[in-house]
Amino acid sequence: MQFTNIIGQNATKKYLIDSVQHNRISHAQLFLGAEGSGNLALALAYAQYVVCENKQAHDSCGECNPCRKAQKMIHPDIHYSYPTIGSKVKSTDFAVEWREAIAKNPYQNAYQWLQYLKADNKQGNITTDECDDIVRKLSLMAYEAQYKILVMWLPEYLGKEGNRLLKIIEEPPENTLFLLVAENADLIINTILSRTQMLRIPRIEEDALIEVLQKRQYLPLESAQQIALLAEGNYNEALNLIANFNNDNQTMLVRWLTIILQRQLNHFNAQTERFTELGRESQKNFLRYSLHFLRQCMLLKAIPKHRLALTQPETELARQITPTINIDKLEQIFKLLNDAYYHIERNANPRILFFNLTIKVGDVLLH
Ligand SMILES: [Zn+2]
Repeated sequence: MQFTNIIGQNATKKYLIDSVQHNRISHAQLFLGAEGSGNLALALAYAQYVVCENKQAHDSCGECNPCRKAQKMIHPDIHYSYPTIGSKVKSTDFAVEWREAIAKNPYQNAYQWLQYLKADNKQGNITTDECDDIVRKLSLMAYEAQYKILVMWLPEYLGKEGNRLLKIIEEPPENTLFLLVAENADLIINTILSRTQMLRIPRIEEDALIEVLQKRQYLPLESAQQIALLAEGNYNEALNLIANFNNDNQTMLVRWLTIILQRQLNHFNAQTERFTELGRESQKNFLRYSLHFLRQCMLLKAIPKHRLALTQPETELARQITPTINIDKLEQIFKLLNDAYYHIERNANPRILFFNLTIKVGDVLLH
């Protein structure tokens, strides 16, 4: 992974590169950032930069031997640790899957990775055996590079096993680097947290996200803007949205509201069927879209001159709808949709859910 492949995050990249160039490499670092921010990608690019034999001012060279090995994730001095399924297992038991999954999407979340391992409903964890393996690996001499590097993705999954790593993090063998990549500091034991230097990684800037969606996903500008708004700086979420993107979300919302507002009761069932046929991801997508739209309507009510995060046709729709609905009703509908989203995520029956939702939204709008 090279820095140039990472979306946005220019300030963080510069900080990381500077720290290597000025020999300020701290031996235990926590890359803390939300899902889809690129925290793992940054740690991988950083590790490659550290081992690169021909470092450039703004990136690793990408061509030297260590770079090629780092790129393929087979450098003998860069170790990876991540959640797995089962108790008597180590991360390296899943090295093939790991390389495949990261090559496909270094912005993936834990759920996707565990599904890749066919976890079904099983919990992931970083096991006792894995911790022992880490201590063993890091106690060996470096093979080729100056540093031995451990990239641990999601130390949240260590739980109390993290205590097994305290000693090695506190008194590491010479030239050892710990790069912990986390999303939620609250789930990491304090004794580990206090031994690392924390680097907070912000969400991806909207402009960078829009640009990458156009370049890599070939989206037209307007769709890229819409997806970027919904994804809120999470590239992984943007990819999910594209995979399930229903360009008809807006059309569907208009039709649904029209049916409700005009009391076309005979269309309630047909509309419910349309929602049901979408499938769960698109249903969530539609609800997320509608929530976003409602949030903008509420802003419009509160601050009429507010610059809306909506496309032109959506803005027109919002300006059409908002004068007739008061803020209290908007809030009630928002809550209904939010609850619906919650239940869809937890496998509620979509036919019953969307039918009830239509009735309840009608209750709010028409009374
Ligand atoms: Zn290189």
